[in-house]
Amino acid sequence: MKDLLGGKGAGLAEMTRSGVPVPAGFTVTTEVCRYYLKRVQSSVVRVQSTKLLPPGFSKEFDQAVQWLQKVTGKHFGDIKNPLLVSVRSGAKFSMPGMMDTILNLGINDQVVRVLEKGNARFSWDAYRRFIAMFSATAMGVDKKLFEEALSNLKKEKRVASDTDLASDDLKVLVERFKSIYRKAMGSDFPQEPAQQLKLAAEAVFRSWMNPRAQSYRKLNKISDDLGTAVNVVEMVFGNMGWDSGTGVGFTRNPSSGAKEFYGEYLANAQGEDVVAGIRTPKPLTELKKDLPKVYHQLRAITSKLERHYRDIQDFEFTIERGKLFMLQTRTGKRTARAALTIAVDMVGEKLITKKEALLRLEPRSIEELLKPIFDQKAKAQFKMVAKGLPAGPGAACGRVVFDAQTATREAVKGPVILVRSETNPDDILGMVAAQGILTQTGGLTSHAAVVGRGMGKVCVVGCEAIEVDERSHCFKTNGTIIREGELISLDGFTGEVMVGQVPLYQSEILSALLGDVAAQGSDIFKKYQTLIRWADESRNLGIRANADTPTDAKVARLLGAEGIGLCRTEHMFFGAERISHVVGMILAKSVEGRKLELDKLFNFQKDDFKAILKAMAPYPVTIRTLDPPLHEFLPKTLEEAQERAGVLGVDAQELWQAAREFHEANPMLGFRGVRLGIVYPEITAMQGRAIFSATAELYREGIRANPEVMIPLVGFPEELKCQRELLLEVKKEVEARYRVKLDISIGTMIEVPRAAVCADQIAQVADFLSFGTNDLTQMTLGFSRDDYGRFIGKYMEEKILAQDPFASLDISGVGRLIHIAISAARSAKKKIKIGVCGEHGGDPDSIQFFAKEGFDYVSSSPYRVPVAYLAAAQAKILESKNMKGSDTR
Ligand code: PEP
Ligand code: MG
Repeated sequence: MKDLLGGKGAGLAEMTRSGVPVPAGFTVTTEVCRYYLKRVQSSVVRVQSTKLLPPGFSKEFDQAVQWLQKVTGKHFGDIKNPLLVSVRSGAKFSMPGMMDTILNLGINDQVVRVLEKGNARFSWDAYRRFIAMFSATAMGVDKKLFEEALSNLKKEKRVASDTDLASDDLKVLVERFKSIYRKAMGSDFPQEPAQQLKLAAEAVFRSWMNPRAQSYRKLNKISDDLGTAVNVVEMVFGNMGWDSGTGVGFTRNPSSGAKEFYGEYLANAQGEDVVAGIRTPKPLTELKKDLPKVYHQLRAITSKLERHYRDIQDFEFTIERGKLFMLQTRTGKRTARAALTIAVDMVGEKLITKKEALLRLEPRSIEELLKPIFDQKAKAQFKMVAKGLPAGPGAACGRVVFDAQTATREAVKGPVILVRSETNPDDILGMVAAQGILTQTGGLTSHAAVVGRGMGKVCVVGCEAIEVDERSHCFKTNGTIIREGELISLDGFTGEVMVGQVPLYQSEILSALLGDVAAQGSDIFKKYQTLIRWADESRNLGIRANADTPTDAKVARLLGAEGIGLCRTEHMFFGAERISHVVGMILAKSVEGRKLELDKLFNFQKDDFKAILKAMAPYPVTIRTLDPPLHEFLPKTLEEAQERAGVLGVDAQELWQAAREFHEANPMLGFRGVRLGIVYPEITAMQGRAIFSATAELYREGIRANPEVMIPLVGFPEELKCQRELLLEVKKEVEARYRVKLDISIGTMIEVPRAAVCADQIAQVADFLSFGTNDLTQMTLGFSRDDYGRFIGKYMEEKILAQDPFASLDISGVGRLIHIAISAARSAKKKIKIGVCGEHGGDPDSIQFFAKEGFDYVSSSPYRVPVAYLAAAQAKILESKNMKGSDTR
């Protein structure tokens, strides 16, 4: 019931139902939040707060409070047995630390006196925390004012940490906090718990729309319309002495996936202390020594929860005077490596099926498994300056930055490492921009660790050997000072920090795929192979790669590509010996002159094709004839700008700068693609001759080369017909010369909207069609691929676009055109082979669409081939289950 109760609420309800000890509470559903948000957004004039909530809500809420008082035997404001609650958000998808929480609600001037009799320090501490949280969250008082008051008091008392403040100090703090409230709000701090509770619940609803929650959702593709639930739960206290404590954990290691009980706890503390990274917690194994009975109970409960949910659980618990309470259980976030290990292991343990295992992995995360790691020998030459906790695997090098803004600004120029004493949700954009994250405090479940790991960042936390000075933009460690802009390297597998740039090399899986025998024996590689085999058995869609060189072709093959879906021949023209002939060809004044230069290119091209066809044989290689506008091969000039600058009386540099800024090179509607081949048929003829000759020579060597010739940017069937006839003519010549019969198909790309609309006519002259969705997107939307920084980013911010249409297919627009094209093409030629070779061929969401539309294959960059395997398998499994992709989250 995550949709209705949110993840946290559903978990609490389910735990309660199965007899797990959970503090009593109730959940206000996400429906109420949606109602509330709709009313807030649509109300032009200020509506009374009660009108913002559904009819009857207030009564039901009061009844729930009554019920809670009854089952706990405690009452709000009661001077004998007061009820204290926590008010927490909880959306369908976990959004760690993004929305607001209020703890200790119910405490007031009278209640604190009652609690004081049990534990004075604890009571005043709870009260001051509550005043600050409630004021900041529910009433919008600046939280910095409370932080300042706390730090001033610590200075006055000459103590370093909050825990050093005595109960009398905290009493003073409570008075100071109350006067901050009075000053800000013009009234006394509210004393009525029921009133506090309603305001707190509303504050949680509002926090759904706070900027950090919004950017988190955008990043994680979570819809803004879901809303959050509110959980009102009886407080239990982990700070009631040394037989109390609080902790978090996972049923398996979320970094490696190993089946081990994993987590941290702090004795005599509240949950906040762990998450905020103020005190560094102890490993959960210590609990076995401290409170063995509780430890065993916790193990039994969490194993039961894992079996029940059939997935790794991330749990929170509190021990109040020796009694264990589970506060939360949810599906654990994990690294790609752990996701793979857990999915394969759980099939072995018969907890889940192979199909479920395939649905458990985010296809994009497979790419992370192919990420670089440090060259261990080279690394040994570098000085390790500090060591923290390894919270996010991988290897990263970059320039040190100390704040989110600098991170985003500098990341454009090269990789950066974000170094903070600890991170908080305001650092999100900096974390996105950084290659790696290093923090001084906090454990493996602190904000930096949970969020950084979730983003797939290399992450080292709790590195207490460093002393971060964010003001002076430097950090100190064992006598070394590292300043902003210096290079450091982070090893997210071990937690080591090195000064300088440690050379990186590819992942174990990639090394194994590339033939490294030692890596082939590794456990993770075996698991990878198992998963890819399952994906292979479950998919219909063919998977090819875009590759232009024999090396790329080999890598693609090793990664599982069943052919090349696009070989861009122009990339072969830039070599030193070739470019002069290309320029010569462009500048040639006559057909003869052009042919002379083309003849010189012929041998280069034939050798290129031979190598690539050989690397891929017997799989198909789709070779595209020359596509780009010819100016791409020519030098660019400044002269023209200088001439005009004189006439206009403006600064030449400024004019040149502006000319460059506003220069429109795309969507390249001009003289390119098939148009080149029509005007200069000798170019197509030379390329055809090179492809056919290469194939004939390979046939002679006994190699079953399998080329497909593809004509780009066709809009009219006549264009394709003309090029096809020319190529068939050349093919005949080559067949006669080599005395072989060549089996080569000739097809085209669908990149121009006209070709999509007239795909039935085009299909009649094509052996295959391959959608060039990069150009098709450009031309359908009238956007250029280079417009991201200029306005596509802004369009996404403004929610005009949900995502970058060049990364993930615009399904309702471009997708619709593709649908029309496929129906038309298949009505003319039922079995015509259809593929896609634009960037979208490696995007999991787009792959779902291509699979549904009945494509024969997708073609992606080589490293995304395994991503495509998994996405294709998921598409087939979901189709048979008749589910939508988003249901797998
Ligand atoms: C395309 O347009 O989708 C395509 C694959 O061709 P290119 O990116 O080379 O224009
Ligand atoms: Mg194109």
